[in-house]
Amino acid sequence: MKKVNILGVKIDSITMGQAYEFAMNAIRSGGFHCIFTPNSEMVMAAKNKPALKDALNSADLLIADGIGVVYASRIIKDPLPERVTGFDLTKRLLEGIWKEGKSVYFFGGAEGVAEEAKANLEKEFPGIRVAGCHNGYFKPEEEAGIVEAINQSGADLLLVCLGAEKQEMWICRYRDQLNVSLAMGVGGTLDGIAGRVQRAPEFYQKHGLEWFYRLIKQPSRFVRMLALPKFGLYVLFHGKKYLKEEK
Ligand code: UDP
Repeated sequence: MKKVNILGVKIDSITMGQAYEFAMNAIRSGGFHCIFTPNSEMVMAAKNKPALKDALNSADLLIADGIGVVYASRIIKDPLPERVTGFDLTKRLLEGIWKEGKSVYFFGGAEGVAEEAKANLEKEFPGIRVAGCHNGYFKPEEEAGIVEAINQSGADLLLVCLGAEKQEMWICRYRDQLNVSLAMGVGGTLDGIAGRVQRAPEFYQKHGLEWFYRLIKQPSRFVRMLALPKFGLYVLFHGKKYLKEEK
């Protein structure tokens, strides 16, 4: 698969349809696979954190969750075909596993979020097999038990929603012990499915303005969002250097 190198993070040049096929094949084939969904904040963070960069690049599929990553690929003249959000891919996969009788485990979010997500999905996809749930607030000594519970559940797909960086590092730490076929780090996806966080209306999504909608809804994100123009400028001045790196 062709990759596009954004500041050392090698994003797969793939459409939503191709990502879906890849993920469903991974779920069907058995063996461990993982998908990560970096946005520009994560790419910027990975620039200064080799462990995070290695974790991201170790994924079987790396999709451009944020529009900033897509713009960056255009700036360096190696354009990605489209934005493939973790949320949208997850929703499609949940429908896919429902049709094929595969099962999913929800790991992450505040107490009760995974169960609310499960209840909503059961309304949308009656009979969907949710093999288990665990919230995302735990002590390090509980982690072995969580891995055991996931394996005992027999889940095919594992959604890990612990927030950026924490979820990727967690999956990498336990990838050799997890018996799932596909693990995905998908941030606030369970909050979205549970209905605790509303996604931006389609207009904002279509025009690459989801960040703007979030800013209006949560002005406290302003400082965090200053990372976006900083990212754009960094890519403009230094982005091409990374293209020479080995693919
Ligand atoms: N989260 C979690 N455990 C943690 C930190 C976060 O389960 O230790 C959950 C949080 O409840 C939310 C999701 O991870 O459902 C995404 O968190 P956040 O929006 O802070 O992450 P980001 O926007 O960086 O992906």
